[in-house]
Amino acid sequence: MQLASQSGQPDRWPTSSTISAALLDSLFEAPGPLLAGLAFAVIAASLTALKTESVVIWGCVALLVLTGVLRAFGLRRYQQRKSPLTVDEAARWQTWSQLGTTVQAAAIGIWCSATLLWTDDAVAHMIALSVTTGLAAGGAGRAYGRQWAFQIQVSLIFGPTVIALALRGTPYYIAMSVVSAVFLVTLVKLSANLHRIFMRAVIAREREAALAGQFDTALNNMPHGLCMFRADGRLAVMNHRFVELMELPNDLVKRGVNAADIVSACISGGAISADSGELILHSVREAEIKEIVTADPHSGRGRTLSWTIQPMTDGGAVVLLEDITERKNAEAKISHLARYDELTALPNRVSFRDEIERLLAYANHAERLSALLFIDLDQFKQVNDTLGHPCGDQLLCAVANRLREMLRPEDFVARFGGDEFVVFQQNINSPEDAASLARRIVERLSERYRIDNHLVEIGASIGIALTSPGSGSADTLLKNADMALYQAKADGRGTFCFFRDEMAATVEARRILELDLRKALANEEFELFYQPLVNLKSGKITTCEALLRWNHPVRGTVSPVDIIPVAEDMGLIVDLGRWILRRACMECMKWPEGVSVAVNFSPQQFHQRDVLSEIRYALEVSGLPANRLEIEITESSLLRNTQLTHDVLSQLHALGVRISLDDFGTGYSSLSYLHNFPMQKVKIDRSFLEGIDTDRPLTLLRGVARLAADLGMSVVVEGIETNEQLELISADGTIREGQGYLFSRPVPAVRVRQLLNASHGRRVDEPLVAISSRSFA
Ligand code: C2E
Ligand code: MG
Ligand code: MG
Repeated sequence: MQLASQSGQPDRWPTSSTISAALLDSLFEAPGPLLAGLAFAVIAASLTALKTESVVIWGCVALLVLTGVLRAFGLRRYQQRKSPLTVDEAARWQTWSQLGTTVQAAAIGIWCSATLLWTDDAVAHMIALSVTTGLAAGGAGRAYGRQWAFQIQVSLIFGPTVIALALRGTPYYIAMSVVSAVFLVTLVKLSANLHRIFMRAVIAREREAALAGQFDTALNNMPHGLCMFRADGRLAVMNHRFVELMELPNDLVKRGVNAADIVSACISGGAISADSGELILHSVREAEIKEIVTADPHSGRGRTLSWTIQPMTDGGAVVLLEDITERKNAEAKISHLARYDELTALPNRVSFRDEIERLLAYANHAERLSALLFIDLDQFKQVNDTLGHPCGDQLLCAVANRLREMLRPEDFVARFGGDEFVVFQQNINSPEDAASLARRIVERLSERYRIDNHLVEIGASIGIALTSPGSGSADTLLKNADMALYQAKADGRGTFCFFRDEMAATVEARRILELDLRKALANEEFELFYQPLVNLKSGKITTCEALLRWNHPVRGTVSPVDIIPVAEDMGLIVDLGRWILRRACMECMKWPEGVSVAVNFSPQQFHQRDVLSEIRYALEVSGLPANRLEIEITESSLLRNTQLTHDVLSQLHALGVRISLDDFGTGYSSLSYLHNFPMQKVKIDRSFLEGIDTDRPLTLLRGVARLAADLGMSVVVEGIETNEQLELISADGTIREGQGYLFSRPVPAVRVRQLLNASHGRRVDEPLVAISSRSFA
């Protein structure tokens, strides 16, 4: 609502329904004086009629009685109404009131002027003039609400009187006429003033009421509870939310309470404890800025409340109350999640570190021995891959439970993520105590688990670091235990190993190797060597296998056997593999058309999501036809995600790329792989050639070769070093290709090009190599 400004006089007063009602009320208020005025007019008129015995005046008396009765009747009905006025009713009452006052004012005016004109009685003149003056003045005090109505009224009363006085023509009467006219004007102004004052008061009251309404709505709809106390501690305001939060009795506010009463009501209602109540009361009394968090004294409801106390400028204080239970719970949950492993509910790395740091800080740890055991599960990955993640999760929970059962209360166990667990064994007598615990852990964790009707077996390797007087931080202990674990794994897993200082050197060497490897990839320090695969019938080179070499300025030529596992651990293999694939494809484009290139893919590289697009891209940029590319994978690539692996192999086959199973005979040597996966070549590992001159291995080799050949795969034997080996292998004709130092060692790209030119430059029917007698390099 827009309210008029209070300075200056407005052209038009704003009228709302409240203002209209107030104006109407002003016309009817003070009925006593009004009725007295009516009676007074009738009595005065009767006196003049008696004194002058004029019929005309008696007529005026009758008119005044009639109008007086009508007005009194109307007044009584207005006072008696029970319900608030509707807009129509208010308009009717207003018309009625104006009509009444107009008729009555006319009657008084007629009476006074008639007395002045029709009679010559001075007493009657005096009575009529003084009573008329009095009634007009009274009207000014009553009818200020409606200015124009008052102006008509006073003109009707006084206008005829002024004219009548003037018509008498004597100087004194004319003077009285002038005085009366001035009085008339003064009265009009006086009433206008009263009207203005009245309107200001009405509007101010209405504005206050509107503000109070808005304040009330805001207070009772805010999410916070609010209390306002005056400087003397008495309650000024309290909203519904506060009553609701504190479950206070509804009549508490009406009783004119102070801060102490409210606080004790909160305490007795069980919303806060006596101690919290005292604290809050003290802050309110001292009007200090304070934030207090309280919890329910009885744990049942578990509510947390925040009280904010703010002093006010004129003394006293405002208390804001907020229910922060949900926020507190969420914070507690987040902090729990940040410190505990969700799956096993064991403390996580962060909380373990903090706890160990705290324990190490205790003075007695300087004298007592403690051990940190870093546990890594063996074969966990296989379980996860073959039985799926839900089973893997259950297995981790079972491991966590077994660990918990085995430890003393003062020991501490945490999950570090993946299949890594850490135990802190406090206050032991000798390293043997740690060794004994490690032994028991390895045994217990290696016992069978029943997971979803599967019997699962895994192992555990443990690295142990002991605290020594003044030994470093939790981080150092963890690092040392981790190094010992690395050694335990290298020792064949399923065992434990104590940290020794020289391990640091090994780890440091590995760290430097990792750094060097990264640099090498960035600086293209790698090179590809190529080793031919030879068709045993024709003696011609069919394929060349790309083999990685690293020419390090200090280390010399580093073998891929040392590079590939580190690159796999570092996750560098994908980038490295991409480089090898592209380089090999480009190199192959320089070879005679019938010669293919074979590229080794490590499992990690083969299982990367976009392996297909990687291969397509390499073919595309090099321009190499797909049928000139062979991808060599090992059995470990076939172990996980079997369906996905199958799909990738099928898609590669559809593309025209050949897949060859490398090192067959070293791993599981599962014949089912040959059957289940779409592969085109099997490379039998050179270990098969050991003792080939005896019957059994040769029979085995031929058996596997025949089986693979029957399944439609071509068979290659790797590592042929002697003519004898070659003769034995090629005797029955099942094995089509051979690879080995007998033909050629892996050679640089330039050298292999020369070999190929030499091999393919001759006539097709003239073999380059008399298989049994020469090598290419
Ligand atoms: P592989 O794929 O089985 O490669 C054959 C390995 O046997 C090569 O060793 C080769 O030099 C060696 N070799 C070939 N003929 C004979 C022989 O007559 N006698 C003996 N004793 N050895 C022979 P290299 O080059 O040291 O590679 C070792 C392994 O490293 C490879 O085995 C392969 O698994 C891996 N590797 C090599 N290059 C790469 C690569 O670019 N990517 C990946 N992922 N792995 C690679
Ligand atoms: Mg290979
Ligand atoms: Mg091989």
